[in-house]
Amino acid sequence: MAFTLPELPYAKDALSPHISAETLEFHHGKHHNAYVTNLNDFVSKDASLAGKSLEDLVRTSSGPLFNNAAQVWNHTFYWHSMRPGGGGEPTGEIARRIDASFGSFSAFKEKFSAVATGHFASGWAWLVKDGEGLAVIDTHDAGSPLTQGKTPLLTCDVWEHAYYVDYRNARAKYVEAWWNLVNWDHANAQL
Ligand code: MN
Repeated sequence: MAFTLPELPYAKDALSPHISAETLEFHHGKHHNAYVTNLNDFVSKDASLAGKSLEDLVRTSSGPLFNNAAQVWNHTFYWHSMRPGGGGEPTGEIARRIDASFGSFSAFKEKFSAVATGHFASGWAWLVKDGEGLAVIDTHDAGSPLTQGKTPLLTCDVWEHAYYVDYRNARAKYVEAWWNLVNWDHANAQL
């Protein structure tokens, strides 16, 4: 069965002014959609892949198949890492775990922003559960925490296509804006 592009969990203009409807139009409607199309192309040409879940493909594939499968997974996770009216201080269990692993929310925020802003070229910044603790990691290109045995909790896409329409080359401004959208309920649900 073919993979489908998941609907955005909010309207295209719902993240404005932090992320514009135009960005989501392209990022979801063109970029994410292209990864789904490419993935279906691979799967349709290789009977051994039939029936595998998206997560299976991310965990077990390599090369262009991995790149497209992981980009489909990563983008869906990214949409859910944000919500209209999000941001602010974390709540619930994730707040307790952030304090335990990073000392404070502000220390975590500083670390995550530094990793997201400083990542060289295309990739992703992640808050992950690694064993009992939380960690901030970055992955290159389509890289996924799933292949490292880590549980993703939040992600920020730092490919240029995520911010160039709204912020041009100013990735730091995009990362700062991302904090106004963070979906703590989503992070809590992954624990
Ligand atoms: Mn992207």
